[in-house]
Amino acid sequence: MKSNDIKLSVIFDNECSCESLTSLWGFSCLVETADNTILFDTGSNGRVLLKNMQRKKLDINRVDTIFISHAHWDHIGGLDSILELNSNINIFVTTHVSKNLVRDLNTLSNGVTVIGDEPTEILPYIHSTGAMGEASEQSFIIDTEDGLIIIAGCAHSGIEAIVTRAKRVFDKEILLLLGGFHLFREEEKNIRETVKSIKNMGTKFVCPSHCTGERAKKLFEESFKENYIDGGVGVDIDFDNGVVTPPSKQTLQ
Ligand SMILES: [Zn+2]
Ligand SMILES: [Zn+2]
Repeated sequence: MKSNDIKLSVIFDNECSCESLTSLWGFSCLVETADNTILFDTGSNGRVLLKNMQRKKLDINRVDTIFISHAHWDHIGGLDSILELNSNINIFVTTHVSKNLVRDLNTLSNGVTVIGDEPTEILPYIHSTGAMGEASEQSFIIDTEDGLIIIAGCAHSGIEAIVTRAKRVFDKEILLLLGGFHLFREEEKNIRETVKSIKNMGTKFVCPSHCTGERAKKLFEESFKENYIDGGVGVDIDFDNGVVTPPSKQTLQ
């Protein structure tokens, strides 16, 4: 897949880069490719998720897949609202999701696939890292000709571990790493090591938000310079032959 065929829109985040969208704790990102429209996580509140999508003129009926990174409240809160409007959706979760919720989601959607511990291809060129760590969290990998695009929900198992696993499977550079890096409680020394290691693994662009924390964001910015993208709700990312087109500040009315 060419990266030029991919568009990412952060539609739910406690970090905010757009005044006309509502910002609450949680994360969700819409991934549009030539063949699929995938919702990565659903934030903590369905009403706000739908309102933000509406403001950005993103069509809920085009969503064909929902990918749930892990079962924490701030990532699954919008599931009901989405499925109420569009049930023609395949859902991917991990073993952390309760059996009762899997049963209910099976009733409300096209069907649920429970991903285990191993990296798994879920759609052409689109992979799950497989469930990692105590939260049994999966991260999302798009295998493009220009490198990997990795999206993490909360990165409870460590953002470094996620990138390491992706590299183990694909042995490719990382074009973009986006999402929650879960460094808000880390000591500065550890954050510096993480930033260095992420960069040394061949990561070109980073777009941290959600649970990354202010200090970690600053250190990523210092290290990645113009290849650092300030994350948050309202950020749209396009690609131009392996370069991320910098998201402009939204001017929605
Ligand atoms: Zn979490
Ligand atoms: Zn979270």
